[in-house]
Amino acid sequence: MEIPGYSIDIEPVIQQIKDKNYSRIALQVPEGLKQAALKIVDVIKKTTKNDVFILADPCYGACDRVQSKIQHLDIACILHIGHLELEKLQSPSIPTFYINAQSTLDVSKIVKKALPQLIGKKIGIVTTAQHLHTLPQVKTLLRENHFEPVIGKGDARIAHEGQILGCNFTTGKSIAATVDSYLFIGSGTFHPIGLMLSTKKPVIAVDPYTFTVVKDELETLKETIMRQRYGAIASSQHAQRFGILIATKSGQQRLQQAFSIRKLLTAHKRHSYFILLDTFSPDSLLSFRDIDCYVSTGCPRIALDDYMQYKKPIITPIELEIVLGVTSWDAYHFDEIVPQSKV
Ligand code: SF4
Repeated sequence: MEIPGYSIDIEPVIQQIKDKNYSRIALQVPEGLKQAALKIVDVIKKTTKNDVFILADPCYGACDRVQSKIQHLDIACILHIGHLELEKLQSPSIPTFYINAQSTLDVSKIVKKALPQLIGKKIGIVTTAQHLHTLPQVKTLLRENHFEPVIGKGDARIAHEGQILGCNFTTGKSIAATVDSYLFIGSGTFHPIGLMLSTKKPVIAVDPYTFTVVKDELETLKETIMRQRYGAIASSQHAQRFGILIATKSGQQRLQQAFSIRKLLTAHKRHSYFILLDTFSPDSLLSFRDIDCYVSTGCPRIALDDYMQYKKPIITPIELEIVLGVTSWDAYHFDEIVPQSKV
């Protein structure tokens, strides 16, 4: 089916729903696609007689697995639109279909615009789920212009070659030793900056939505973020009471790491408290006035992207190690989530 700006291959899944006689369906869509939710429901109901429940809580990634929260509603399956599955669950309590929303934007013009700015000959191409289908086209374009395109493969958290997540840059890292620079296709600056910090290589970002090519500004933004992180670490130096934030969303839950953090804090004679959250927000933490600093084990974007919104410093696990003097600032790295099966 087509919705403004995207193509969603929902029909094969609807057929499977019919074949399996699934009755109640839950529909999960990310914020950017929510306005199309009613149209998606109409398409499902046109060919099936199912009841469809739209999950309206904010959803930012495939890490947001809602199975346990809706089990009592007799939901037979979940349609998760707009993200690709993270590492496979052994036995999900409710079967979940992940259906990508492919951007219908033509990326060739913006990639051509970026060609003069690419650095070196070997170019790593990375992107987010909605532009993955453009990789063969971008590869050909680079070859025609005498570059050597390279596409990496991520760990078990990554569904598709060439794909990166805001919490996982292993696809980029897998080719870091081979490439001279990266071409990132997608929107925003979080992914390209994360890629720069994880690979220590230059990144040229093209945004097909705004038709912009960003290169030098990324370096400036990276410096700003690093200064901000340095500030967060400095202002946590004298913290005595730490809140260890743990996500209840299972795909961003790092429980083992939370226990390791507590052990580390105890060894350094600091008090710590485990705090569980579903959707992280500064308001949820306002009442914990005696906490001096939060260590987030949830989505890395919370500490890095939303830092300014929190009243107390919020730092990542590696930043805590720097605060406690276990790791040096020189060893700073971007916070990433590894497949939890590996923990
Ligand atoms: S943990 Fe954050 S970056 Fe990773 S998939 Fe979830 S929302 Fe995206």
